[in-house]
Amino acid sequence: MLLLDGKKLADELKQEIKLEVEQLIAAGGKQPHLAAILVGNDGGSLTYVGHKVKACDTVGFKSTLLHFPDEISEEALLAEVKKLNEDADVDGFIVQLPLPKHIDADKVIMAIDPKKDVDGFHPVNVGKVTLGLPAYVSATPLGITKILERYNIETSGKHCVVIGRSNIVGRPMSILMSGTAKTGNATVTVCHSRTKNLKEITLQADIIIAALGKPEFLTGDMVKEGAVIIDVGTTRVTDTTTKAGWRLKGDVKFDEVSAKASAITPVPGGVGPMTVVSLILNTLKAAKNEVQ
Ligand code: NAP
Repeated sequence: MLLLDGKKLADELKQEIKLEVEQLIAAGGKQPHLAAILVGNDGGSLTYVGHKVKACDTVGFKSTLLHFPDEISEEALLAEVKKLNEDADVDGFIVQLPLPKHIDADKVIMAIDPKKDVDGFHPVNVGKVTLGLPAYVSATPLGITKILERYNIETSGKHCVVIGRSNIVGRPMSILMSGTAKTGNATVTVCHSRTKNLKEITLQADIIIAALGKPEFLTGDMVKEGAVIIDVGTTRVTDTTTKAGWRLKGDVKFDEVSAKASAITPVPGGVGPMTVVSLILNTLKAAKNEVQ
Protein backbone atom coordinates (compact mmCIF):
# COMPACT_ATOMS: atom_id res chain seq x y z
CA MET A 1 0.00 0.00 0.00
CA LEU A 2 1.33 3.39 -1.03
CA LEU A 3 0.74 6.25 1.39
CA LEU A 4 -0.05 9.38 -0.63
CA ASP A 5 1.84 11.83 1.55
CA GLY A 6 0.23 15.22 0.89
CA LYS A 7 2.33 16.94 3.54
CA LYS A 8 5.62 15.84 1.93
CA LEU A 9 4.37 16.73 -1.54
CA ALA A 10 3.16 20.14 -0.37
CA ASP A 11 6.58 20.85 1.18
CA GLU A 12 8.30 19.91 -2.09
CA LEU A 13 5.94 22.09 -4.11
CA LYS A 14 6.48 25.03 -1.74
CA GLN A 15 10.25 24.74 -2.27
CA GLU A 16 9.71 24.74 -6.06
CA ILE A 17 7.43 27.79 -5.82
CA LYS A 18 9.93 29.58 -3.55
CA LEU A 19 12.65 29.16 -6.20
CA GLU A 20 10.30 30.43 -8.91
CA VAL A 21 9.39 33.49 -6.83
CA GLU A 22 13.08 34.26 -6.26
CA GLN A 23 13.68 34.03 -10.02
CA LEU A 24 10.63 36.18 -10.74
CA ILE A 25 11.83 38.91 -8.38
CA ALA A 26 15.46 38.66 -9.62
CA ALA A 27 14.12 39.25 -13.14
CA GLY A 28 12.48 42.50 -11.98
CA GLY A 29 9.00 41.13 -11.36
CA LYS A 30 6.89 42.01 -8.34
CA GLN A 31 6.46 39.90 -5.22
CA PRO A 32 3.21 37.87 -5.52
CA HIS A 33 0.61 39.12 -3.06
CA LEU A 34 -2.30 37.11 -1.62
CA ALA A 35 -4.94 38.78 0.54
CA ALA A 36 -7.52 37.02 2.71
CA ILE A 37 -10.75 38.32 4.19
CA LEU A 38 -11.78 36.62 7.42
CA VAL A 39 -15.03 37.39 9.21
CA GLY A 40 -15.54 36.34 12.83
CA ASN A 41 -13.61 33.95 15.03
CA ASP A 42 -14.64 30.46 13.92
CA GLY A 43 -11.86 28.11 15.13
CA GLY A 44 -11.61 26.18 11.86
CA SER A 45 -11.51 29.33 9.73
CA LEU A 46 -8.82 30.92 11.94
CA THR A 47 -6.69 27.77 11.56
CA TYR A 48 -7.15 27.54 7.78
CA VAL A 49 -6.36 31.21 7.20
CA GLY A 50 -3.35 30.88 9.51
CA HIS A 51 -2.01 28.02 7.36
CA LYS A 52 -2.50 30.08 4.21
CA VAL A 53 -0.64 33.11 5.63
CA LYS A 54 2.19 30.85 6.86
CA ALA A 55 2.47 29.22 3.43
CA CYS A 56 2.81 32.68 1.86
CA ASP A 57 5.74 33.42 4.19
CA THR A 58 7.39 30.10 3.29
CA VAL A 59 7.28 30.70 -0.47
CA GLY A 60 8.18 34.40 -0.31
CA PHE A 61 4.76 35.87 -1.09
CA LYS A 62 3.42 39.01 0.50
CA SER A 63 0.19 38.35 2.40
CA THR A 64 -2.47 40.60 3.87
CA LEU A 65 -5.07 39.39 6.33
CA LEU A 66 -8.18 41.53 6.71
CA HIS A 67 -10.01 40.35 9.82
CA PHE A 68 -13.48 41.75 10.51
CA PRO A 69 -15.89 41.17 13.37
CA ASP A 70 -18.97 38.93 12.94
CA GLU A 71 -21.19 42.03 12.92
CA ILE A 72 -19.74 43.50 9.71
CA SER A 73 -22.58 44.34 7.33
CA GLU A 74 -22.89 42.79 3.89
CA GLU A 75 -22.54 46.23 2.36
CA ALA A 76 -19.30 46.94 4.24
CA LEU A 77 -17.90 43.53 3.28
CA LEU A 78 -18.76 44.11 -0.38
CA ALA A 79 -16.93 47.44 -0.16
CA GLU A 80 -13.82 45.60 1.12
CA VAL A 81 -14.06 43.17 -1.80
CA LYS A 82 -14.27 46.11 -4.19
CA LYS A 83 -11.16 47.67 -2.63
CA LEU A 84 -9.20 44.45 -3.15
CA ASN A 85 -10.48 44.16 -6.74
CA GLU A 86 -9.07 47.62 -7.39
CA ASP A 87 -5.80 47.26 -5.47
CA ALA A 88 -3.15 46.76 -8.16
CA ASP A 89 -0.68 45.35 -5.63
CA VAL A 90 -3.00 42.43 -4.72
CA ASP A 91 -2.71 39.60 -7.26
CA GLY A 92 -5.37 37.39 -5.77
CA PHE A 93 -7.59 37.15 -2.71
CA ILE A 94 -9.97 34.85 -0.92
CA VAL A 95 -12.96 35.33 1.32
CA GLN A 96 -12.78 32.59 3.94
CA LEU A 97 -16.07 30.66 4.18
CA PRO A 98 -18.39 30.20 5.98
CA LEU A 99 -19.65 33.76 6.39
CA PRO A 100 -22.15 34.80 9.10
CA LYS A 101 -25.80 34.09 8.25
CA HIS A 102 -26.71 37.74 7.60
CA ILE A 103 -24.25 37.87 4.69
CA ASP A 104 -25.13 36.32 1.34
CA ALA A 105 -21.97 34.33 0.51
CA ASP A 106 -23.00 33.94 -3.16
CA LYS A 107 -23.32 37.70 -3.50
CA VAL A 108 -19.83 38.18 -2.01
CA ILE A 109 -18.27 35.54 -4.30
CA MET A 110 -19.96 37.10 -7.33
CA ALA A 111 -18.42 40.46 -6.37
CA ILE A 112 -14.86 39.12 -6.61
CA ASP A 113 -13.04 39.99 -9.83
CA PRO A 114 -12.70 36.56 -11.55
CA LYS A 115 -9.08 37.44 -12.41
CA LYS A 116 -8.31 37.66 -8.67
CA ASP A 117 -10.55 34.77 -7.61
CA VAL A 118 -7.74 32.40 -6.60
CA ASP A 119 -10.18 30.15 -4.71
CA GLY A 120 -11.87 29.49 -8.06
CA PHE A 121 -15.38 29.90 -6.65
CA HIS A 122 -16.65 32.62 -9.05
CA PRO A 123 -19.06 31.30 -11.71
CA VAL A 124 -16.73 32.56 -14.45
CA ASN A 125 -13.95 30.30 -13.18
CA VAL A 126 -16.30 27.40 -12.51
CA GLY A 127 -17.65 27.76 -16.07
CA LYS A 128 -14.19 27.95 -17.62
CA VAL A 129 -13.02 24.88 -15.70
CA THR A 130 -16.11 23.04 -16.95
CA LEU A 131 -15.22 24.02 -20.52
CA GLY A 132 -11.57 23.02 -20.02
CA LEU A 133 -10.35 26.62 -20.47
CA PRO A 134 -7.49 28.23 -18.47
CA ALA A 135 -8.95 29.27 -15.11
CA TYR A 136 -8.49 29.05 -11.38
CA VAL A 137 -9.45 25.55 -10.30
CA SER A 138 -10.71 25.52 -6.73
CA ALA A 139 -7.93 24.58 -4.38
CA THR A 140 -9.03 21.23 -2.93
CA PRO A 141 -9.82 19.56 -6.29
CA LEU A 142 -6.64 21.07 -7.75
CA GLY A 143 -4.62 19.65 -4.83
CA ILE A 144 -6.13 16.20 -5.38
CA THR A 145 -5.22 16.21 -9.08
CA LYS A 146 -1.65 17.20 -8.08
CA ILE A 147 -1.47 14.24 -5.68
CA LEU A 148 -2.63 11.83 -8.40
CA GLU A 149 -0.26 13.41 -10.94
CA ARG A 150 2.83 13.43 -8.73
CA TYR A 151 2.29 9.84 -7.60
CA ASN A 152 1.76 8.75 -11.25
CA ILE A 153 -1.68 7.33 -10.59
CA GLU A 154 -3.36 6.42 -13.84
CA THR A 155 -6.85 7.91 -14.08
CA SER A 156 -7.59 7.41 -17.78
CA GLY A 157 -10.30 4.81 -18.33
CA LYS A 158 -10.66 4.19 -14.59
CA HIS A 159 -13.95 4.26 -12.74
CA CYS A 160 -13.82 7.12 -10.27
CA VAL A 161 -16.53 7.41 -7.62
CA VAL A 162 -16.84 10.83 -5.99
CA ILE A 163 -18.88 10.87 -2.78
CA GLY A 164 -20.23 14.40 -2.28
CA ARG A 165 -21.45 17.03 -4.76
CA SER A 166 -20.61 20.30 -3.02
CA ASN A 167 -19.62 23.31 -5.11
CA ILE A 168 -16.16 23.46 -3.54
CA VAL A 169 -15.13 19.78 -3.63
CA GLY A 170 -17.36 17.04 -5.04
CA ARG A 171 -18.76 18.74 -8.13
CA PRO A 172 -15.54 20.39 -9.42
CA MET A 173 -13.68 17.16 -8.66
CA SER A 174 -16.10 15.15 -10.77
CA ILE A 175 -15.71 17.65 -13.62
CA LEU A 176 -11.90 17.44 -13.52
CA MET A 177 -11.85 13.64 -13.35
CA SER A 178 -14.16 13.38 -16.38
CA GLY A 179 -12.25 16.08 -18.31
CA THR A 180 -9.62 15.55 -20.95
CA ALA A 181 -6.54 16.73 -19.03
CA LYS A 182 -3.85 14.15 -18.23
CA THR A 183 -5.27 13.59 -14.75
CA GLY A 184 -8.78 12.99 -16.01
CA ASN A 185 -10.40 10.84 -18.68
CA ALA A 186 -12.00 8.77 -15.95
CA THR A 187 -15.54 7.39 -16.00
CA VAL A 188 -17.10 9.26 -13.11
CA THR A 189 -19.99 8.45 -10.81
CA VAL A 190 -21.08 11.22 -8.42
CA CYS A 191 -22.82 10.07 -5.24
CA HIS A 192 -24.68 12.12 -2.64
CA SER A 193 -27.10 11.76 0.22
CA ARG A 194 -29.92 10.54 -2.07
CA THR A 195 -27.78 7.86 -3.72
CA LYS A 196 -29.21 4.38 -3.30
CA ASN A 197 -27.02 1.31 -2.78
CA LEU A 198 -23.86 3.35 -2.35
CA LYS A 199 -21.82 0.30 -1.39
CA GLU A 200 -22.65 -1.42 -4.70
CA ILE A 201 -21.24 1.62 -6.48
CA THR A 202 -18.11 2.11 -4.36
CA LEU A 203 -17.27 -1.59 -4.76
CA GLN A 204 -16.93 -0.97 -8.52
CA ALA A 205 -14.58 1.98 -8.09
CA ASP A 206 -10.92 2.03 -9.11
CA ILE A 207 -10.60 5.45 -7.45
CA ILE A 208 -12.78 6.75 -4.61
CA ILE A 209 -12.79 10.40 -3.61
CA ALA A 210 -14.65 10.68 -0.31
CA ALA A 211 -15.84 14.24 0.41
CA LEU A 212 -18.94 14.06 2.55
CA GLY A 213 -17.81 15.14 6.02
CA LYS A 214 -18.89 11.99 7.90
CA PRO A 215 -16.02 10.56 9.95
CA GLU A 216 -15.01 6.98 9.01
CA PHE A 217 -18.00 6.61 6.67
CA LEU A 218 -16.14 4.56 4.04
CA THR A 219 -15.37 1.17 5.56
CA GLY A 220 -13.29 -1.76 4.30
CA ASP A 221 -16.31 -3.73 3.02
CA MET A 222 -17.21 -0.84 0.68
CA VAL A 223 -13.91 -0.89 -1.20
CA LYS A 224 -12.51 -3.28 -3.77
CA GLU A 225 -9.01 -4.72 -3.51
CA GLY A 226 -6.41 -2.37 -5.05
CA ALA A 227 -8.56 0.78 -5.17
CA VAL A 228 -7.00 4.24 -4.84
CA ILE A 229 -8.55 6.22 -1.98
CA ILE A 230 -8.56 9.98 -1.57
CA ASP A 231 -9.95 11.09 1.79
CA VAL A 232 -11.07 14.72 1.76
CA GLY A 233 -13.01 14.67 5.02
CA THR A 234 -11.80 16.75 7.94
CA THR A 235 -14.15 16.60 10.87
CA ARG A 236 -13.08 17.70 14.34
CA VAL A 237 -13.92 14.93 16.82
CA THR A 238 -13.55 15.21 20.56
CA ASP A 239 -10.31 13.74 21.88
CA THR A 240 -9.42 14.50 25.47
CA THR A 241 -5.91 13.08 25.00
CA THR A 242 -4.89 15.98 22.74
CA LYS A 243 -3.99 19.47 23.92
CA ALA A 244 -6.72 21.03 21.79
CA GLY A 245 -9.35 18.53 23.01
CA TRP A 246 -10.10 17.40 19.46
CA ARG A 247 -8.49 15.77 16.45
CA LEU A 248 -9.22 15.57 12.75
CA LYS A 249 -10.97 12.52 11.34
CA GLY A 250 -11.33 11.71 7.68
CA ASP A 251 -14.30 10.19 5.86
CA VAL A 252 -12.44 6.90 5.52
CA LYS A 253 -11.95 4.18 8.15
CA PHE A 254 -8.21 4.19 7.58
CA ASP A 255 -7.14 0.90 9.20
CA GLU A 256 -9.74 -1.18 7.32
CA VAL A 257 -9.54 0.60 3.97
CA SER A 258 -5.74 0.91 3.85
CA ALA A 259 -5.53 -2.90 4.18
CA LYS A 260 -7.30 -3.20 0.80
CA ALA A 261 -6.22 -0.05 -1.02
CA SER A 262 -3.26 0.20 -3.42
CA ALA A 263 -2.81 3.85 -2.42
CA ILE A 264 -4.46 6.12 0.15
CA THR A 265 -4.21 9.64 1.57
CA PRO A 266 -4.01 10.00 5.36
CA VAL A 267 -5.95 12.52 7.49
CA PRO A 268 -4.28 14.71 8.56
CA GLY A 269 -1.37 15.08 6.14
CA GLY A 270 -3.12 14.21 2.88
CA VAL A 271 -5.48 16.50 0.99
CA GLY A 272 -5.36 19.37 3.54
CA PRO A 273 -1.76 20.54 2.96
CA MET A 274 -2.24 20.17 -0.80
CA THR A 275 -5.28 22.45 -0.65
CA VAL A 276 -3.16 25.21 0.88
CA VAL A 277 -0.36 24.81 -1.65
CA SER A 278 -2.87 24.85 -4.51
CA LEU A 279 -4.11 28.24 -3.40
CA ILE A 280 -0.49 29.39 -3.51
CA LEU A 281 -0.14 27.93 -7.04
CA ASN A 282 -3.26 29.83 -8.13
CA THR A 283 -1.86 33.06 -6.68
CA LEU A 284 1.39 32.53 -8.57
CA LYS A 285 -0.68 32.10 -11.75
CA ALA A 286 -2.43 35.38 -10.94
CA ALA A 287 0.88 37.16 -10.35
CA LYS A 288 2.05 35.93 -13.75
CA ASN A 289 -1.24 37.01 -15.39
CA GLU A 290 -1.82 33.51 -16.71
CA VAL A 291 -5.61 33.62 -16.30
CA GLN A 292 -7.47 36.23 -18.34
P1 NAP B 1 -20.73 19.65 2.19
O1 NAP B 1 -20.93 20.93 1.47
O2 NAP B 1 -21.40 19.41 3.48
O3 NAP B 1 -21.15 18.48 1.18
C1 NAP B 1 -21.21 17.16 1.59
C2 NAP B 1 -21.68 16.30 0.45
O4 NAP B 1 -21.73 14.95 0.91
C3 NAP B 1 -23.09 16.66 -0.04
O5 NAP B 1 -23.13 16.63 -1.44
C4 NAP B 1 -23.97 15.57 0.56
O6 NAP B 1 -25.07 15.21 -0.25
C5 NAP B 1 -23.00 14.40 0.60
N1 NAP B 1 -23.38 13.43 1.62
C6 NAP B 1 -23.71 13.67 2.91
N2 NAP B 1 -24.03 12.53 3.54
C7 NAP B 1 -23.92 11.54 2.63
C8 NAP B 1 -24.11 10.16 2.66
N3 NAP B 1 -24.52 9.52 3.76
N4 NAP B 1 -23.90 9.46 1.55
C9 NAP B 1 -23.49 10.05 0.39
N5 NAP B 1 -23.27 11.38 0.30
C10 NAP B 1 -23.49 12.12 1.40
O7 NAP B 1 -19.20 19.36 2.45
P2 NAP B 1 -17.86 19.85 1.66
O8 NAP B 1 -17.67 21.29 1.86
O9 NAP B 1 -17.85 19.27 0.30
O10 NAP B 1 -16.77 19.08 2.54
C11 NAP B 1 -16.77 17.68 2.68
C12 NAP B 1 -15.71 17.29 3.70
O11 NAP B 1 -14.43 17.68 3.19
C13 NAP B 1 -15.84 17.98 5.06
O12 NAP B 1 -15.36 17.10 6.06
C14 NAP B 1 -14.90 19.16 4.94
O13 NAP B 1 -14.42 19.60 6.18
C15 NAP B 1 -13.81 18.54 4.12
N6 NAP B 1 -12.99 19.49 3.37
C16 NAP B 1 -11.66 19.34 3.46
C17 NAP B 1 -10.83 20.16 2.75
C18 NAP B 1 -9.36 19.96 2.84
O14 NAP B 1 -8.62 20.81 2.42
N7 NAP B 1 -8.90 18.84 3.37
C19 NAP B 1 -11.37 21.18 1.95
C20 NAP B 1 -12.75 21.29 1.85
C21 NAP B 1 -13.57 20.43 2.56
P3 NAP B 1 -26.29 16.23 -0.57
O15 NAP B 1 -25.77 17.14 -1.63
O16 NAP B 1 -27.35 15.35 -1.06
O17 NAP B 1 -26.59 16.94 0.72
